[in-house]
Amino acid sequence: MTDFIPARAIGILGGTFDPIHYGHLRPCLDLLQQLNLAEVRLMPNHIPPHRATPGSSSAHRLAMAQLAVSQCNELNVDTRELNRTTPSYTIDTLIELAAENPHTPVCFLIGLDSLNSLHRWHRWQELLSYCHLVVSYRPNYELTLAPEVRKIFEQVQTTDVEDLQQQKQGRILLWPSTQLEISATRIRQLIEHQQNPQYLLPDNVLSYIHKHNLYK
Ligand code: ATP
Repeated sequence: MTDFIPARAIGILGGTFDPIHYGHLRPCLDLLQQLNLAEVRLMPNHIPPHRATPGSSSAHRLAMAQLAVSQCNELNVDTRELNRTTPSYTIDTLIELAAENPHTPVCFLIGLDSLNSLHRWHRWQELLSYCHLVVSYRPNYELTLAPEVRKIFEQVQTTDVEDLQQQKQGRILLWPSTQLEISATRIRQLIEHQQNPQYLLPDNVLSYIHKHNLYK
């Protein structure tokens, strides 16, 4: 058996980011620092399989994500899902990432709402063969797992962040990162109703939204 000699883990946060906001960004930075990750990549979906197609184009969502990370060296944007013409299945992305980084644990970051619906993800049983799942609490969401997910969760849950660096994949960590009651839906609604969403998202992203007349 070959020993696994790990490189520092990376974090990935997938999402529609329509638009990106501080509820995405602050947990990423918390996790980067508290889990000692080498970097966190924000990965905008092209055609999200689990939800309605985003209102804004891929180009706008990408531009906003790039603006949001422009002032933080350890946060980057990974465009691979936007370059596909097929649905953005997380499992395909994780297989690709694992092949590119054979010694690097990948921490796939999700909010608690996403863990609760994990059983609806395409080939969800295989995800932990390619990554760890790191789950941030989100205001107004309780842990309510489907029985088939709960069974696996109880076997692989850890509270030790070291496990995520020592092992290549297969663990789930629930992590109390900063909880911000912000959603993209709310930001879109505010703009639609001519209200100001300032302080829920970066100023440069808000300027971009105004410049391109989004969410009106
Ligand atoms: P929408 O309101 O349009 O559904 P959203 O704000 O939930 O969007 P997404 O792009 O769907 O944003 O989210 C991407 C990922 O970020 C998901 O895993 C989601 O759980 C997580 N997330 C989004 N907002 C928060 C938040 N405020 N706190 C913690 N996690 C969040």
